[in-house]
Amino acid sequence: MHEKIIDLRSDTVTKPSAAMRRAMAEAEVGDDVYIEDPTVNRLQSRAAEIFGREAGLFVPSGSMGNLTCIMAQASRGQEVICEAAGHIYNYEMAAMSAIGGVLPRVVPAEDGIMTWEQIAPAIREKAYYRPQTALVALENTHNMAGGTVYPTRLGHKICDQAHEAGLKVHLDGARVFNAAVHLGENVAEMTKKFDSVQFCLSKGLGAPIGSMIVGSRDFIERCRVIRKTLGGGMRQVGVIAAAGLVALEEGPKRLHIDHDNAKILAEGLAKIARIRISPEKVQTNIVIFDLGETGLTSKQFLERLAQRKVLGGPVDARRIRMVTHLDVDRNDIEQALKIIGEVVVAGF
Ligand SMILES: *Cc1c(COP(=O)(O)O)cnc(C)c1O
Repeated sequence: MHEKIIDLRSDTVTKPSAAMRRAMAEAEVGDDVYIEDPTVNRLQSRAAEIFGREAGLFVPSGSMGNLTCIMAQASRGQEVICEAAGHIYNYEMAAMSAIGGVLPRVVPAEDGIMTWEQIAPAIREKAYYRPQTALVALENTHNMAGGTVYPTRLGHKICDQAHEAGLKVHLDGARVFNAAVHLGENVAEMTKKFDSVQFCLSKGLGAPIGSMIVGSRDFIERCRVIRKTLGGGMRQVGVIAAAGLVALEEGPKRLHIDHDNAKILAEGLAKIARIRISPEKVQTNIVIFDLGETGLTSKQFLERLAQRKVLGGPVDARRIRMVTHLDVDRNDIEQALKIIGEVVVAGF
């Protein structure tokens, strides 16, 4: 009897490691609103260093990180160009509009990867009687497209062209380290042309809480003000930043294991009759598949899996998302595949 719950809903579900808990217990702390928490300061300088930037800022969530970056670079009544299936448009409570007064202008793109040729026509003409485009936001890896990766050259080209058009470029790099591992490149080189970068410590890197923003010193000081406005000024938050430091140093080194497990999952799913998936499209740690001819809806499929202690998430009525992370290993993936196979056969 397999007792462990194999939780493939998201890479956010990871629990802090023993090393993280130790670092948290022992963290030196101070009041971070006074910029006096030594552990937070260390995390921020380390993130800046890894990304080759002047400064970094710890934020409670990726959503707040993205919103802060958007508000720092787009004024009320301006527009942000983003991909139609993107996280900032679909999963962040319309905060850019509800709080920032900014309008998203969405561009649908295959695999979530926008080209400059798709972005350019969405830029508003410079006329006082039209809303003005302020920012382009890319997502790497692209979550709801199945963890797809921007080729670095394409990211650079979009930044260059956007800058030429007088626009800023933000990277929602929630899983940018997964992209880096897939490409075999480093995040500093990949992201150097972006005006702002947000990445999550709380996803595949394994921290319980938190995201980082990196950018120029001046930009980060503006973000600090916005973070406080949003209620994100925290006090002795070094207890959390300590886990973030462990995640930042240790997390990237093992992401290739998650990618291998995602590949095994995708290839195994492809062998299950009536499930539709293109395993060759799986680049990182996210696997999206279609229930195809199984006759099951996402809800039915997920309920039956949950009874067998395997958890996934719905994308829509017919598609399922599963995410690999440090709390599932190769054996868990084999077990999950066996159970999925049985659920599909029983459901047909
Ligand atoms: C998870 C995620 C975020 C941030 O989410 P929070 O839950 O607010 O930390 C942002 N962008 C993408 C692509 C994500 O997957």
